Amino acid sequence: MQIINDPAEMQKTAESLRLKHQFIAVVMTMGALHEGHLHLIRLAKQRAGTVILTIFVNPQQFSPGEDFHRYPRPFEKDAAMAKAAGVDYLFVPDTEQMYTGGFQTQVTAGDIANRFEGSARPGHFNGMATVVLKLMLISKAHLAVFGEKDAQQLAVIKRMVKDLNIDIKILEAPVIREEDGLATSSRNIYLSSKERKQATVLYKGICRAEELVQKKVADTEKIIREVISIIESAPDAKIDYANIVSTDTFTETDTLKPDTEYLLVLAVWIGSSRLIDNGKLRIN
Ligand code: AMP
Repeated sequence: MQIINDPAEMQKTAESLRLKHQFIAVVMTMGALHEGHLHLIRLAKQRAGTVILTIFVNPQQFSPGEDFHRYPRPFEKDAAMAKAAGVDYLFVPDTEQMYTGGFQTQVTAGDIANRFEGSARPGHFNGMATVVLKLMLISKAHLAVFGEKDAQQLAVIKRMVKDLNIDIKILEAPVIREEDGLATSSRNIYLSSKERKQATVLYKGICRAEELVQKKVADTEKIIREVISIIESAPDAKIDYANIVSTDTFTETDTLKPDTEYLLVLAVWIGSSRLIDNGKLRIN
């Protein structure tokens, strides 16, 4: 595995791989790798001859007061995990290299980016979309693998790729969970052991919603009411949002139409950690 820090060197390397007819997949992360990331790398390896993993904690997608400075950065461990997973190139630029003096161009994500995570974290999706576009251009990848864990991020990226005619395929990977259902996340280390136990209420809420939908309950208010009562059974849980939305547009709906996919989207504070999760809902 080759480690590259300089964006120009990464781009030159990618170009020479393309000239050798290599099919390139990229997996973009902020590091502190876990099983969710490893699953994305595995999918990339199944589909591509060359896998580029990027690790970059992007200051542009953190609001003031968020955890940018304390975000975990266990680089040695990450590099060892990436190598063991079969990554070919580990691209790890620093902030100055990504945002050289005078940087001023930004992607403005549209309406999807103003809802839910976008309204809770102003500027987050524009910062995310900007760095994702830069990493697509630097890695020159044919395929990029993203997790459904960050469903709204995925919707914003898919919209951007379509709107800007970006020549890249997007592969969506399912949410990877711990045994008790908590979605794996680099931020789970912030949870105390008491909070960690309570954090399972998000998945319990998702399972209850899935159960109701299987029984053909289409009234989203009824489903959400039950989800909220499960989440609120945890003493340290505070709901930021719990809604049912269309998968592509993130607009809310009162009734689930048959044969249409929706998402239950959740953002919940457990103590001082904000967790997000989602589950697909569909009445067949
Ligand atoms: P992050 O490092 O948190 O920015 O995540 C990098 C990529 O990994 C994104 O595409 C995430 O959606 C994906 N990811 C993170 N956690 C999970 C998970 N538990 N299951 C599936 N994908 C995940």
